[in-house]
Amino acid sequence: MSEEKSKPVPRPGILDIAAYVPGKEHAPGVARVYKLSSNETPLGASPKAIEAFRNAAGSLERYPDGQATELREAIAAVHGLNPANIMCGNGSDELLGLLCHVYLGPGDEGIITEHGFLVYKIQIMGAGATPVVVREKDHTVDVDAILAAVTPKTKIVFIANPGNPTGTYVSVSEIRRLQAALPKHVVLVLDAAYAEYVRRNDYEAGIEIVSSNANVVMTRTFSKVYGLAALRVGWMYAPVDIIDAVNRVRGPFNMNAAAIAAGAAAIRDQAFTQEAASFNQTWIEKMTGGLEAIGLKVTPSVANFVLIHFPDVDGKRAPDADEFLTSRGYILRAVKGYGFPNALRMSIGPEEANRGVIEALGEFMGRKS
Ligand SMILES: *Cc1c(COP(=O)(O)O)cnc(C)c1O
Repeated sequence: MSEEKSKPVPRPGILDIAAYVPGKEHAPGVARVYKLSSNETPLGASPKAIEAFRNAAGSLERYPDGQATELREAIAAVHGLNPANIMCGNGSDELLGLLCHVYLGPGDEGIITEHGFLVYKIQIMGAGATPVVVREKDHTVDVDAILAAVTPKTKIVFIANPGNPTGTYVSVSEIRRLQAALPKHVVLVLDAAYAEYVRRNDYEAGIEIVSSNANVVMTRTFSKVYGLAALRVGWMYAPVDIIDAVNRVRGPFNMNAAAIAAGAAAIRDQAFTQEAASFNQTWIEKMTGGLEAIGLKVTPSVANFVLIHFPDVDGKRAPDADEFLTSRGYILRAVKGYGFPNALRMSIGPEEANRGVIEALGEFMGRKS
């Protein structure tokens, strides 16, 4: 008999995981608060999605469709895909976790990048495997650094493309080069949570490369441009063998009925989606220009947020700016946990918030320190 314990003990490694800390929501004592810390859309969800959500209230006693058929078919129609290659999840976070659960175990390694999304590390460790962190170059995923880190133990590679919190992206030719050089049994996960925002000719979210390879998965979300973060709707596009494996461990009703209905209505409303993406494009440019004009460095972003770097000067560092902005009702995201102790990430918000942040930071930078 093994040694007796006085209380339940988690598997080795579980208590080494640093739990995910979501973006701040409150600015105590401030009347008008703008939450710009979680990359949520300032335009809300499509009115059609809201209506579908309300309609779902009429049949709450019924289990949802365990295959999320309506949603998978709506996604497939918009993107020109086969629904058999699509799986939906309770947020794409759930799918990232399921992929780790299926492809990783103790002794295995999962490669993540220096400034990569923290959920990857959490899920790799949750599966009992070891995260291997590789450096980025100019705040951008570096394919050569990833390839140099591959060992016989590597089973999965996670890339956020565009990256969060950097907002940078990797070109389709670089992704192809990575896939071609990875061993065929290594799962390459392309997390394209911000794909709808990208306006670059050399970017591709992953559809093409998933379609032509057996080891690539693309994950997507309805939490950003579609404005359904509260409902938790994500999906992945993957080869059928991967869909089949993950389906075996997926909760049978992982998608709730309201999420299925609202998600399907949201993705069918591409006019609304385009409007949200172009509002973002306008403001990404204005924000970047406005912040640079007051002497701040901004990492060039193709997503719906900007990474703002502060001077290494007493009274003008990121925590000082965070405090200053919070006292004025602007909540940004501290990104120390992502390897940027002297930067803040700001989601593009409504016009008045964007203008307000530029104005407030102008005041902050002009302050005598
Ligand atoms: C926001 C975000 C997601 C989306 O997660 P959901 O669980 O779908 O809300 C996934 N990956 C990255 C990098 C993100 O920033």
